[in-house]
Amino acid sequence: MGSQTSAKDLSEVQQDPMKKGAISEGDSAVDVSRKLSETIAGLRRTSDQISKTKSNVQSAITASQSLENKWQKFQADFDKILNNAIGQIAKGMGVGVPDAAAADEGEGMTTEKKFEVLGNDCSMKSLARRLRGEKYKNVVILMGAGCSVSTGIPDFRTKGTGLYSQVEKYNLPYAEAIFDLHYFNEVDKTPFHKIAKEMYPDPEKFKPTLTHKFIKLLQDKGMLLRCYTQNIDGLERLAGVHEDKLVEAHGSFLGDGLCGLCKAPCDKDKLRDVLLNGEKNGYSGLKCEECDKGFCKPPIVFFGENLPARFGQNYKADMQGCDLCIVMGTSLKVAPFSNLVNLVPDDVPRMLVNRELVGDFWDEEQEKEKGKGGGVNYRDVVELGDCDDTIEAFCKLLGYHDEIGVGVGSGKSGGSGKQKARGKSMKAKVSGLLNRKASGRRVSLNI
Ligand SMILES: [Zn+2]
Repeated sequence: MGSQTSAKDLSEVQQDPMKKGAISEGDSAVDVSRKLSETIAGLRRTSDQISKTKSNVQSAITASQSLENKWQKFQADFDKILNNAIGQIAKGMGVGVPDAAAADEGEGMTTEKKFEVLGNDCSMKSLARRLRGEKYKNVVILMGAGCSVSTGIPDFRTKGTGLYSQVEKYNLPYAEAIFDLHYFNEVDKTPFHKIAKEMYPDPEKFKPTLTHKFIKLLQDKGMLLRCYTQNIDGLERLAGVHEDKLVEAHGSFLGDGLCGLCKAPCDKDKLRDVLLNGEKNGYSGLKCEECDKGFCKPPIVFFGENLPARFGQNYKADMQGCDLCIVMGTSLKVAPFSNLVNLVPDDVPRMLVNRELVGDFWDEEQEKEKGKGGGVNYRDVVELGDCDDTIEAFCKLLGYHDEIGVGVGSGKSGGSGKQKARGKSMKAKVSGLLNRKASGRRVSLNI
């Protein structure tokens, strides 16, 4: 009887597929045994089916994962192809150089490694202490128009006072036409000649600023690896920065002239005389003696022209070999120059001296918005304000004040006498932050 009871219990456990083999009360022990065998066989079949289904589901999951991987790979490949294409187009335009894409900063660096960069103190004081201790021997400077505004040379893009705002009087189809090779060669060379007269680096009119002198001082101390400038005013040369320490990324008024059409070299002195006396000669320009068709221009890089060969020859090794990068007075909006800062190795400190926050420099506000996911600044020293004010304060911290000719008691860190400048810097700081929020980052292929 006991076996019957247990058989009945078993039958209750059975599911529909096994009903055929249900055990009834009149079954003999042999029947029960046979039916149990059938039931077990049925259960095995079901188990096999479940395994099969499970394996099918597993394959489906694997397939979907592989599809996801494939999609991700496709996206990565697509980005790569797109970046390459942009690079090729840029190269075709003569501006193909550093990639715009910056790798995730500090990724893969240990906390200890990050600590070694600036000792978790990203202040100007901390950087000055290290610079004074001769920690840096290969400083790369990246500079723009903001370094020259205190001389009275207008920058390009500041609304109202910037050069592009002032060229409205020339009735150009677009402001940049003033530096457009096609416009100069084929349409009208007069606007350029007019502006060239105003901008020509006359040592009597435009003097190198404190910021330029600081670069020269770094050179004298054997710390300057290279100075990359976007300025065409030649003030770095006038300050005494050697030609081999200098990359004038957008050319300069002071180099050898060339024909806008056939590129034949022109006499530098003749060209200077023609440019400086434009008014007297009716802005007639200097005709090329080689092709007798085109007109000579200073070696300023016009839209539609290649960057100087020195740029392409040096930028990679310089950016990767620098031990400190100082970015001054530039909006970092004009590629490829703007991409240089992205090439600084992750374990190298960077300093920004500018009226507003630019590029991918550490953005405290943005990091706060990220909340807990925000990173830690271990290498960006950000000083918002006018270049000369900041460099003056920096020189005092460095103990360079005598050599560069600034009194210890003046300047923004000295307190007296420069309250106005400090106020201006604070204002610039606030407006800089606001602008940063409003404009975001723009990368252009133009020079
Ligand atoms: Zn020519």
